[in-house]
Amino acid sequence: MRRAEHLPVVVGGAGPVGATCAFGLWRRGVPVVIVEAEPAPVIDQRAASTQPPTLEILAELGLYEKALARGLVSPTFRFFDRLTGARVAEFDCGLLKDDTPFPFVLQHEQFKLVDTILKEVADAADFSVRFSSKVTGFVQGADDIAVALDGPSGAETVRCSYLIGCDGGRSTVRKQADIAFEGFTYPEKFIKIGTTFDFLSIGRDYCFRNYFSDPDEWCNLFKVKGDGEPGIWRAIFPSRVDETDEEALSEAGMRRRLTKFFPGNADWEIAYSAIYAVNQRVAETFRKGRVLLAGDAAHVNNPIGGMGMNGGIHDAANLYERLARVWRGEADDAELDRYSRQRRKAQLDFVQQQTIRNKQQLEERDPTRRRQHLDELKRIGDTPKLARDFLRNATLINSVHAAAQVA
Ligand SMILES: Cc1cc2nc3c(=O)[nH]c(=O)nc-3n(C[C@H](O)[C@H](O)[C@H](O)COP(=O)(O)OP(=O)(O)OC[C@H]3O[C@@H](n4cnc5c(N)ncnc54)[C@H](O)[C@@H]3O)c2cc1C
Repeated sequence: MRRAEHLPVVVGGAGPVGATCAFGLWRRGVPVVIVEAEPAPVIDQRAASTQPPTLEILAELGLYEKALARGLVSPTFRFFDRLTGARVAEFDCGLLKDDTPFPFVLQHEQFKLVDTILKEVADAADFSVRFSSKVTGFVQGADDIAVALDGPSGAETVRCSYLIGCDGGRSTVRKQADIAFEGFTYPEKFIKIGTTFDFLSIGRDYCFRNYFSDPDEWCNLFKVKGDGEPGIWRAIFPSRVDETDEEALSEAGMRRRLTKFFPGNADWEIAYSAIYAVNQRVAETFRKGRVLLAGDAAHVNNPIGGMGMNGGIHDAANLYERLARVWRGEADDAELDRYSRQRRKAQLDFVQQQTIRNKQQLEERDPTRRRQHLDELKRIGDTPKLARDFLRNATLINSVHAAAQVA
């Protein structure tokens, strides 16, 4: 019988976190099998903002140059008061030049990262991807784990050393492991509208990443490269609690939202749209025996600030480094408990708190609190030392450093 450490690691889910985790393990000599429910990599227009610590991980994996070629460099982001149209503050990641070799955010869509990784391993031995196959369950043994799959040829069992659930917010792996997913769901949903309309052509003060405070309807506005020029602008708005998904995504509903944003323009070519339920939740543990969780399977948050996928890739990097050593027999599997403790801290103390606060501040209705918040943002933005501290939180540098201190 093969010893468990010679068996492959199965990764459930070929999203950005599963692909990165599998790639990191494989580069360290661990054979991997990715199991992906969909028949092909998902062209997912969700995450794009890739933060400096994530760029450091991509550089270590030899993926940075390829990401750079397919992305847009965004050194700054700006806050606006949508009631007056005035710019409130600008934050320049250049202030992080002593904190990271990548003092900017790269707007690089998540499906491009998956695509690049799968091309890198297309001919690789010991790296396989099984599409149209779902992880449905598992049985843990003392030295291995039997993963149940449902694929094109029916049900089967794959014996492996560890199972990593990177199968998204509704994770089957997390549910089958009976790991609680504590937190809450917002009553409203988030609407994403992608348009080819060029927001830099209208004489406003926008950059590639913009946040708009508005007590009636806050907004985030970003540019991504898409397939190339002219690129796509993505706007994200809250839905009304009484609004159906059909109303929100109707042509009239989307035009109304975009036109309020820029009255006078009628030229809205809509490239894509979607509506999302939004949760703030963290799994009670990221490890149970030979089962590990990473990415949205382990934690979900609202997308304001661009932290969900980034935090998931930080999980992946923390995990593949430890798991590879455990797999080779060079480290005790207590390393995997440390993974869980470190990454839960990054989520609970940083990503969850910041994303909840980001939303509260953009939607603040109380005029006094709203004014105080906008004034405070301006003060921080105008004071380089405070702005650098702010940026270290906003780009997740502090979360990674704080997590690394956890024993
Ligand atoms: C509008 C929006 C904008 C966002 N923008 C950003 C951003 O700018 N920056 C950022 O950091 N984050 C952002 N996020 C969050 C980001 O999209 C997610 O955090 C990210 O997709 C998580 O990656 P993942 O690989 O963990 O999960 P997913 O991307 O959800 O991938 C999970 C994969 O698992 C597969 N799967 C599911 N069940 C099974 C099963 N049983 N067996 C096998 N496979 C399975 C799925 O098909 C899927 O391919 C945004 C989210 C939204 C909604």
